[in-house]
Amino acid sequence: MSYLLRGVAAAGGVRVVAADTTALIEDARVRHDTSPTATAALGRTLTGALLLSHVLLKNPQDRVTLRLRGDGALGGVIADAGLDGAVRGYVTNPDATLPPRPDGKLNVGGALGKGDLQVIRAHAPYGDPYSSSVDLVTGEIAEDITVFLAQSEQISSAVLLGVYIEPSGVVKSGGVILQALPGADEGALALLEANVRALGQLTDAMRRATLLEIVEELCWGLGFELLTPDALPLRFECRCSDEKALDALAYFSPEERERMIQDDGGAEVVCGWCGEARWLGPDALRGISEGEIRCPDCDTLWYRDGQATMVRDSERCACGRPVMLPA
Ligand SMILES: [Zn+2]
Ligand SMILES: [Zn+2]
Repeated sequence: MSYLLRGVAAAGGVRVVAADTTALIEDARVRHDTSPTATAALGRTLTGALLLSHVLLKNPQDRVTLRLRGDGALGGVIADAGLDGAVRGYVTNPDATLPPRPDGKLNVGGALGKGDLQVIRAHAPYGDPYSSSVDLVTGEIAEDITVFLAQSEQISSAVLLGVYIEPSGVVKSGGVILQALPGADEGALALLEANVRALGQLTDAMRRATLLEIVEELCWGLGFELLTPDALPLRFECRCSDEKALDALAYFSPEERERMIQDDGGAEVVCGWCGEARWLGPDALRGISEGEIRCPDCDTLWYRDGQATMVRDSERCACGRPVMLPA
């Protein structure tokens, strides 16, 4: 099972959030059938989003979205996490594969290329999402999150993220964020830096020690205090539903949907976030039309129940006809 733990060190001067996401990232790899390079990028991003949710969010319903966009073969990676331990995400091009770097590691930075990291905080159930972004520094994701936290949040942190993959799948995946809180002792921070260097690769450490042992090594000499005696379970979990799948089909005309029923007996909708397929039968497909208002001339969708207006009264439809919505 994947899990997260939190703690403090240096008499409260250092905040620690750590996660073992091995099972979760293997789940994500299977869902999206990702190449090793894409698995590493997706795994680091999903783990990073989970760690950041414990740094940036306050309320259980809030969510943080981590979006990396680049000009490389991966296209982009996105992950969305909350304090409840649920995370979901995907890679734009799951097949993208690059030769390994000279040191033998997967070339995630090269596969992302030049671009930016955007962090969006959504405060449910109301309030505008808050977003800020930084240019990618290396595209290796941990470094990029470190820069984001320094520039955007004025917090100095060490971020460790790792995914170790063999042909059979994900062997180890995890992450740690260590943050210096205001007033942290300088000597303590120097020791922390030395401990981080001494640990080496996170996934190497995870193959010989438990997450708690690793955190204790990272906080050696600083008095680590565990704040979560029961580790928080983590899981890949989407928020898709039949309703959202039906929304996606609303963009087809009633005739096109009727043709899906005639030809295939219904429609299969695959969710981009989680890769799960949903089957929608004739009743569900025909039910979509009830809440719709369409252009009488060209059939363009003008309005749909429960959604923001797509076109406004008095605007012109794509075909030129003035839009008229019932009051
Ligand atoms: Zn989904
Ligand atoms: Zn029209």
